[in-house]
Amino acid sequence: MLLREVEYAKPSSVAEAVALLEGNEGARALAGGQTLINVMKARAASPDMLVDLNGIAGLKGIELAADGTLTLGPMTTYSELLASAEAKARPILAEVCAQIADVQVRNRGTIGGNLCANDPTNHLPPLFAAIGAQMTISGRGGERVVPAEEFFLGVYMTAVGQGELLTAITVPAGKKDGFAAVTLGVDGTCIANAAASVNGSLRIALGCVDATPIVVHPDSVDTVRDAVRAAGLDPPSDVHASSEYRAHLAEVLAERAARQAVAKS
Ligand SMILES: Cc1cc2nc3c(=O)[nH]c(=O)nc-3n(C[C@H](O)[C@H](O)[C@H](O)COP(=O)(O)OP(=O)(O)OC[C@H]3O[C@@H](n4cnc5c(N)ncnc54)[C@H](O)[C@@H]3O)c2cc1C
Repeated sequence: MLLREVEYAKPSSVAEAVALLEGNEGARALAGGQTLINVMKARAASPDMLVDLNGIAGLKGIELAADGTLTLGPMTTYSELLASAEAKARPILAEVCAQIADVQVRNRGTIGGNLCANDPTNHLPPLFAAIGAQMTISGRGGERVVPAEEFFLGVYMTAVGQGELLTAITVPAGKKDGFAAVTLGVDGTCIANAAASVNGSLRIALGCVDATPIVVHPDSVDTVRDAVRAAGLDPPSDVHASSEYRAHLAEVLAERAARQAVAKS
């Protein structure tokens, strides 16, 4: 289906983009367009204006600090992350980005777009919740930092408000991470997924079982299934999986991801 007519702007700075978004309630940021353009074609969203972030150089790139902390520009594509030497400091990032869809989607889709879309079947919201990422949100009033666990608010809803942008994602140092998913075909949409991280304590984030990633903190890998059960999941049913089957997958995948994480040195 063709797009409806829509205004288009391509600012070259964050301040200009924020001014455009703030001044027009119907304006939406455009990153890789791999979700937004599709929902516009399906008439599930019809913004009045697209504010294309592709002209803002400061929103791209990956920096590695001496202590191993990574700062990801939200406009970094999955393919750029896969090719980045810096991103290897946290290997799980490339391992998971390599599983997203196909080459076309990975060449266009961005880390920030994936997180801001917060589609419950996306790979990155549970991953970034598990690894304890911090999100920098910028608006006219300045910057604020929100932990990933508080960033995801609902389906397609995040802590980024109208007139704001996600401008950086900070990932702490660490290598003991795991990710497991059951997908529709190879590299397809997730039916259920789980990301785990052991940096000090064990943290697991479950995807596809609720509107936002569900984070659990088991004492050890041996109590992962108990912790998932105690979370009282009530996942949605659809043509791909019943609620009961998704809840079962969440337990299995959480344990799988946790065992991967603890096995890493
Ligand atoms: C065929 C196909 C298969 C796919 N399969 C998968 C999959 O298996 N797993 C997966 O995780 N994803 C999948 N996706 C989705 C893909 O990863 C998208 O790239 C991602 O969901 C959105 O990223 P984007 O850069 O394209 O963002 P866009 O579509 O441009 O934007 C998405 C949303 O985020 C907002 N936004 C973007 N950047 C910012 C920012 N910096 N600040 C504030 N708001 C912002 C936009 O306004 C919009 O609301 C698939 C997409 C397609 C087309």
